[in-house]
Amino acid sequence: MRPLLSAGDTEIYRVEEYRSAMLPVEEMFIGTEALRLQIAALGPDDYEASSDRLVMASTSYVVRSRGFVAVVDTGVGNGKPRIRDMWNGLTTSWLEEVSQVVDPAEVDVVINTHLHCDHVGWNTTTDAAGAWVPTFPNARYLFNELDRSFITGPDARVMFERNGDFWADSIEPVFVAGQADVVELPHRAAPGIVLEHAPGDTPGHMVVRVLDPSSGSTVAIISGDALHHVLQVATPGLTSSFCSMKEVAEATRRALLEECAATGVPLLPGHVASRELLYVGADGEGGFEVSDGAH
Ligand SMILES: [Zn+2]
Repeated sequence: MRPLLSAGDTEIYRVEEYRSAMLPVEEMFIGTEALRLQIAALGPDDYEASSDRLVMASTSYVVRSRGFVAVVDTGVGNGKPRIRDMWNGLTTSWLEEVSQVVDPAEVDVVINTHLHCDHVGWNTTTDAAGAWVPTFPNARYLFNELDRSFITGPDARVMFERNGDFWADSIEPVFVAGQADVVELPHRAAPGIVLEHAPGDTPGHMVVRVLDPSSGSTVAIISGDALHHVLQVATPGLTSSFCSMKEVAEATRRALLEECAATGVPLLPGHVASRELLYVGADGEGGFEVSDGAH
């Protein structure tokens, strides 16, 4: 597999678990009536007009920086019991694709940008006895206290009712195995890999800043669900109905878009299907637009 991006001693690989016209527009976003013209103008990799559904990908990233390897976001996972039909007992070749980049036994850290069930699934696989155990046997799994307390607190019960108990099959086994580290943010996992607090979608949502360790410059920002769809570049106020802190999420999104528009650094989002590198430009009226990357 070829890297999506490389700079100095750092390489980023993109692994797509699946893509699907999965969610009706109105289920994904709040307040889409005023955006119907923009939605109708989207291409087929962003929107399926026949079903009025948004096309979403599930993406993970493998970052190799001076020999240190991080896996960022682990999708829905295989064989997980889930409420949503499409995710229930999903079978994909995600692990084979990751294994083309790195032997799972050689992954140093696993980072879930946030603790939603479509970002933690491949944290675990089943052992011979059918128990959920860490997929990456020698990795440290990095969490922060805000999301750890969120996922073990009362607000998470609603998510488990909607999705299935992904704490029990995808996160708790990592703690039981002694492979979880609860870190303070920002956290430098390696010279080129920094976890930063980007709250909103969950209280402890993080983005991962990937740096060229030689120059210290930012190569890309793996942005998780700070942004779910390209629609939110031109309309940062558009908020996912799954966000737990909607106003905070918008402020986080605007700050990321501002940085990317000013610097030309690409975002690597969790669900955008139409672009592997999401470049952002200024639209000339104080807002943002998707750009071709020329800066
Ligand atoms: Zn997500």
